[in-house]
Amino acid sequence: MYLYNSLSHKKEEFIPHEAGKVSMYTCGPTVYHFAHIGNLRSYIMEDILEKYLRYTGLDVKRVMNITDVGHLTSDGDTGDDKMLKGAKREHKTVMEIAKFYTDAFFADCAKLNIKTPDVVVPATTYIDEFIRVITTLMEKGYAYEAGGNIYFDTSKLEKYYVFNDFKEEDLAVGVREGVEEDGNKRNKADFVLWFTKSKFDDQELKWDSPWGVGYPGWHIECSCISMKNLGEYLDIHCGGIDNAFPHHTNEIAQSEAYLGHKWCNYWFHVLHLNTNSGKMSKSSGEFLTVSLLEEKGYSPLIYRWFCLLSHYRKSLVFSWENLDNAATSYNKLVEKLVPLVKDRSGEVDDNAFAELKKSFTDALDNDLNTSLAITAVYDVLKSGANSVTKLALIADFDRVLGLGLIQAAQALAENASDAAEDIPQEVLDLIEQRREARKAKDFALADEIRDKIAALGYEVRETRQGTEINKL
Ligand code: AMP
Ligand code: ZN
Repeated sequence: MYLYNSLSHKKEEFIPHEAGKVSMYTCGPTVYHFAHIGNLRSYIMEDILEKYLRYTGLDVKRVMNITDVGHLTSDGDTGDDKMLKGAKREHKTVMEIAKFYTDAFFADCAKLNIKTPDVVVPATTYIDEFIRVITTLMEKGYAYEAGGNIYFDTSKLEKYYVFNDFKEEDLAVGVREGVEEDGNKRNKADFVLWFTKSKFDDQELKWDSPWGVGYPGWHIECSCISMKNLGEYLDIHCGGIDNAFPHHTNEIAQSEAYLGHKWCNYWFHVLHLNTNSGKMSKSSGEFLTVSLLEEKGYSPLIYRWFCLLSHYRKSLVFSWENLDNAATSYNKLVEKLVPLVKDRSGEVDDNAFAELKKSFTDALDNDLNTSLAITAVYDVLKSGANSVTKLALIADFDRVLGLGLIQAAQALAENASDAAEDIPQEVLDLIEQRREARKAKDFALADEIRDKIAALGYEVRETRQGTEINKL
């Protein structure tokens, strides 16, 4: 498999450190609010990556943190504490907020068919580990104390900036008046490992440490949680592209300083979901959640499908119209599967199976090209293979795609037969006449027919998902 690696800026063959095994780390959510569908785009694409690696026979161990402390609104060392902000907004404690939004996050993931990682670690449960690693960084001369906080000294590294081609001189310069807000830092790019001098008087979560009572910086949590659970060599680190700097850059700095060798080989970054007014974010303005999609009548799996139609390395624009188009194509695909789930006679043709599967794996082997993988699904339907072979292939692909295709087709087939049994022929005929009228844009006639249907005890409604018929 070839994957684009943000570290080398090119597509590279994926070769795990230990043959047959993959260690994978994912930056988890900051649990001060619901995840928005932009966050969930990243988790959907990471889920596809994990599932595809497993599909190819690799033994994957995936670890995720839950950020319940230390993340400031700037992603650096300035701004408000996100958790504190959430707690104040809802008049609750930080831990209550963390619990509520962690549960909400996994509930959303379940609806989107996103597998829960093998290990999930809330940052607040690893304080001793953070202190241990920071102590080693101090001993090795990579960290210093200033003004009550512990900072990582980026000038001790040969290369701090790894993902982008920023000008080194802009980053390595010492504190300049008017540019740098934190006068304690020796270098502009230095970052906090441990705060003992919290700027928040009402800091709720504090722990004792060799440097005084305080709390960890955000970046150290991912390094420590990854190294503790996945060892010294990490195969893949995932996250949204906004995390490349400063978060992942700082993770690399401190992990490699601690270990004394290269830490992670492949960096997988998902581009953003944007709206017409820009990047979707938790901290600014209204954001869209899975619950909101459901309220508007979309199944969460329609959103998963919408995400898979685009490549993870392209930013994706969300609009209701785009989602409607996705809903239409998803529903059409499911309809096409109905005859297959009804006719399960015959045997799987192994040759046809292998041949059609190849275009699916070729697509995903090429930097996880999910839209081409979906084309492979349509190719199966168009092929001359028998129904059972087609069904077996789609069930097989769906182990990776996670779109619930067979279940949806099954449900549709059952509903259709229930509906056909229950609804009198007279009503079915009227529904058909109404459909024709709507097609011809004769809405007056369509309304008239709807009233006739109502008089027979049925309600017909147009939803985003198609025509719905219910008993009154
Ligand atoms: P957070 O909860 O803010 O720590 O973010 C959780 C994950 O969502 C991180 O991997 C972010 O990089 C990612 N993320 C944030 N905003 C977006 C967006 N608009 N589109 C895609 N991913 C995002
Ligand atoms: Zn992280």
